[in-house]
Amino acid sequence: MAGVSFRNVTKVFGKDVKAVNNLTLDIRDQEFMVLVGPSGCGKTTALRMVAGLEEATEGDILIGDVRVNDVPPKDRDIAMVFQNYALYPHMNVYDNIAFGLRLRELKGFVWQLTHWNEAREIKKDIDRRVRETAAMLGIEGYLNRRPKELSGGQRQRVALGRAIVRKPKVFLMDEPLSNLDAKLRVQTRAELIRLHRSLGITTIYVTHDQVEAMTMGQRIAIMRDGVLQQCDKPEVVYQKPANRFVAGFIGSPPMNFLEAKLVEEGGQVWVDAGEFRFPVVGNGAARDAVGKDVLMGIRPESIFDASLESHVKPTDFNTFVAKVDVLEPLGHEYVAYLKCGKHNLLASIETGTKIAIDQEARFVVNLEQVHIFDKETEVAIR
Ligand code: ATP
Repeated sequence: MAGVSFRNVTKVFGKDVKAVNNLTLDIRDQEFMVLVGPSGCGKTTALRMVAGLEEATEGDILIGDVRVNDVPPKDRDIAMVFQNYALYPHMNVYDNIAFGLRLRELKGFVWQLTHWNEAREIKKDIDRRVRETAAMLGIEGYLNRRPKELSGGQRQRVALGRAIVRKPKVFLMDEPLSNLDAKLRVQTRAELIRLHRSLGITTIYVTHDQVEAMTMGQRIAIMRDGVLQQCDKPEVVYQKPANRFVAGFIGSPPMNFLEAKLVEEGGQVWVDAGEFRFPVVGNGAARDAVGKDVLMGIRPESIFDASLESHVKPTDFNTFVAKVDVLEPLGHEYVAYLKCGKHNLLASIETGTKIAIDQEARFVVNLEQVHIFDKETEVAIR
């Protein structure tokens, strides 16, 4: 097994499409790393460079301690799982899983005739590995079926089986769940996490879905326009986003951004949005930025109905009054669209709420979770 490293890797397509721009990222041995970002941010290109399907224009790619830029894909000891399974339609499940192993280990027909005993042992070993893998994925009952006789979820498991059976150094997965329906996606997500835990194979997983990234990744790397924005554990990326882009990309409904200014009064630094202002807590850097135009970031789940019991007690310093414009019931909570002067905010409000459309209500904010971004550079001030 091995880690994977990108060292100042850039990929340019044609004359000037910089799909990946100076990417430096270390994926640890046995880690499950998710590359996430909107369409076109370069995540697939980064993955394909590890696979050897694209050549890096600049920089080094390492698998373990070995620079693999010039190593052909078949010698990199990686296995890739794609969105569109890419199974052989004319082969049954057994043969689909066994195919790569046979190709690799049974060195050709003539060799098998001249080394009959050796070939028989290898075939036995392949059979054992295929059956073990199928059992691990719960598809042992379908080994004689062709791909067209399987559901999407079962096909995806066969594709995984084909990758797993080889016990590669690294798994590369490119949106492997996006063809599955929502329920199956959640289920397969959990299965993949379990599988990773038991096999412990370094995995790089590409998705545009932030929920998938947050739930699966031990660490997640967020990319935008080919540039890595932040790489950290999911909870750190959520609680301490490095910039406005990451803050807005991670979390649903998305974070609210309000134009504001940092001011100082009576020794206290405030983030002032005009209609309301909050004292800045635990943020040394804000004091150095007093006078600056900023964006105040508040997640919808950091806003509570002040008339309901919550762990954040309303005071004179953490509340604001707003009119409820729209109330979307989600079952376990409401998404409330609030208007407060020039500001529009989304809030996730508990179902016990008495707030009503077109009525004003008082809301309380968890001040520990108020983010501040430089308006110009969009970098977090903290
Ligand atoms: P998606 O989620 O839509 O697949 P992505 O984040 O994986 O997006 P990439 O497929 O890596 O993004 O593409 C990054 C950029 O490189 C895009 O602007 C894309 O148009 C461009 N690109 C990708 N492959 C090629 C290619 N073979 N030739 C030219 N440009 C390409």
